[in-house]
Amino acid sequence: MHDYPDLALHIAGEWRTTAETLPVVNPATEAEIGRVPVATADDLDDALAAATDGFAVWRRTSPRDRADLIRDAAALLRDRRDEIAADITAEHGKPLRQAELEVIRGCEFFEWDAGEAVRTYGRVIPSAPGVSYVVHHQPIGPVAAFSPWNFPMSQPARKVAGALASGCSIILKAAEETPAGARHIVQAFVDVGLPPGVLNLVSGVPSDISAHLIPDDRINLVAFTGSTNVGRHLTGMASEHMTPVLMELGGHAPVIVCEDTDVEAAAVSSAIRKMRNAGQVCTSPTRFFVHESIYERFLQVFTARAAETVVGDGTEPGVEMGPLANDRRIAAMEHLVADARSAGAAVVTGGNRIDRPGYFFEPTVLAEVPDTAAVMQTEPFGPLAIVNPVASLDEAIEKANGVPYGLAAYGFTNRADYVDRMVDGVEAGNLSINTLEASLPETPFGGVKSSGYGREGGAEGLAHYTVVKNVSHSIQIV
Ligand code: NAD
Repeated sequence: MHDYPDLALHIAGEWRTTAETLPVVNPATEAEIGRVPVATADDLDDALAAATDGFAVWRRTSPRDRADLIRDAAALLRDRRDEIAADITAEHGKPLRQAELEVIRGCEFFEWDAGEAVRTYGRVIPSAPGVSYVVHHQPIGPVAAFSPWNFPMSQPARKVAGALASGCSIILKAAEETPAGARHIVQAFVDVGLPPGVLNLVSGVPSDISAHLIPDDRINLVAFTGSTNVGRHLTGMASEHMTPVLMELGGHAPVIVCEDTDVEAAAVSSAIRKMRNAGQVCTSPTRFFVHESIYERFLQVFTARAAETVVGDGTEPGVEMGPLANDRRIAAMEHLVADARSAGAAVVTGGNRIDRPGYFFEPTVLAEVPDTAAVMQTEPFGPLAIVNPVASLDEAIEKANGVPYGLAAYGFTNRADYVDRMVDGVEAGNLSINTLEASLPETPFGGVKSSGYGREGGAEGLAHYTVVKNVSHSIQIV
C-alpha cells in the first residue's frame, strides 16, 4: 500500500496543521488517500508577514548563494524522484514513468533558473564624464503564486524557481487536488536550509485565498497557471492594486499537417502526444488541420494509434494513459462529445466514459467537426482530438487562428516556405515544427491573446520577477 504523505501548510519555516481539511482522492480508484489543509484568514495573514520578512533576508542573499541553494534542493528532489513520482501517480493518476519524467522536468526548471540567477544583468548607459546611468534589475518582492493540478510537481517548481532565483519570497497555493509535489518541493528547501519565510505553502478554498492575498499591498506579483476564466478574474483583482501579473492560461493548440510531410510518422507521433497526461495539458495538440490530399491516411493512422492507447491505473506496467483528474473533466468531455455529434461531427473512436471505477475516458477522435461545434472553441483539456481537412496552408492558418487562444501551435512540413508562412502567420507564443515539444527549461514559454501574459523559462523567465531601477549618479551636485 502506497504511503501518501501527511499534508500541512508551511509558514515562516514551520509546518502547520489546520482544523479544517479537504479530501485528496485517487482518480483511478476514487478512494480518499489524504487530507489537504484549509488555511484560515489568520494563516494567510501569517503567510503575508512571513513572506515580507523572508523577502528582507532573501533579497540581500547573493545571487550565487541563491543559485547554490536552489541547485542543492533540486539535487535532493532528484534523489527523491521515486517517492515523489509515486505520490503524483496516486493523486493525479498519470503513469508512473510520466510522473518520474515530470519530477525530472521540475528539477530542470530549478537548475535552469538557478543558472539565470547570476545573469539578471543590468546595463550602463553612456554618459558624460562624472555622471553614470546604471540600470539594475532588482527582485520585485513577495509573490502570490497559484499552480494547477495537471503537473503537480513541475508547475509549482516553475513558479518557485522563478521567484527564488530572482531574490523574491513566495506564497505558493498549490492545487488542492494534487498537493504532494509542492509539499516535496518545500521539504527539499527546508532540508537545504532556506531561510524561514522565503517559501510559504498554503492551500484551502482557492477563491478565499486569492481574495485575501492579491489585494494585500505586500504582494508585488501574482503568478497563476490555470484556466483563462480564473486568470481573467485574478488579473482584474490585481489591476485594482496595480499589481503585475504573470498568467499562463488555457490553450487550444492547432496542428497544421502539410501535404509534403511523412503522414504515418506525423500521425503516430501526434496520437501518442495527444494522449499524454490524458490530454490535460495546456499545450496538448488538439485541432488537427490536415491537407485534404493526405487527410484519409492521416485520420486512419492517427485513429488506430489513439485507439490502441493502453488506458489504466498509472501504477500498472505498460499503461500509457491514466484517468482524468476528476469528475468535472468527465462531465466536460461528455458534453463536448455530445454537442459535436449533434452538430454533425463523426466520432471515429472513443467518446465515452470507461465503465470501471475511477475517472477514465476513452481516447477520442472527432472528424469533420463543423465550426459550430462547441469543441472548436472550447479547450477540451482531455483525451480528445479534432481532425479536419483543409484545402490549403492559408486555410489551415486561418482556422488555427480562429480561437481566442494562442499558446502552443504545431506544424508538420519539410518546406522552408511553409515554415516561413507559419512563423509569420500563426498566432501563438510557441510554434513547433516537426516536433510536439512546446516548451523546455531553456526556451521561453507563454501565450498571446487569451492564453495569458508573460513568459516562464528561457532567458526571459526571470524578467517578471524583477523590476528595473535606473540609477543616475553625478559626482558633482548639478
Ligand atoms: P477551474 O477553472 O475551476 O480551476 C483552474 C485552476 O484555478 C485550479 O487549479 C483551481 O484551483 C484554480 N482556481 C479556481 N478558482 C480560483 C480562484 N478564485 N483563485 C485562485 N485559484 C483559483 O477549472 P478546473 O476544473 O480545475 O480545470 C479545468 C480547466 O482549467 C481546463 O479547462 C483548463 O483550461 C484549465 N487548466 C489549465 C491549466 C494550464 O496548465 N494552463 C492547468 C489546469 C487547468
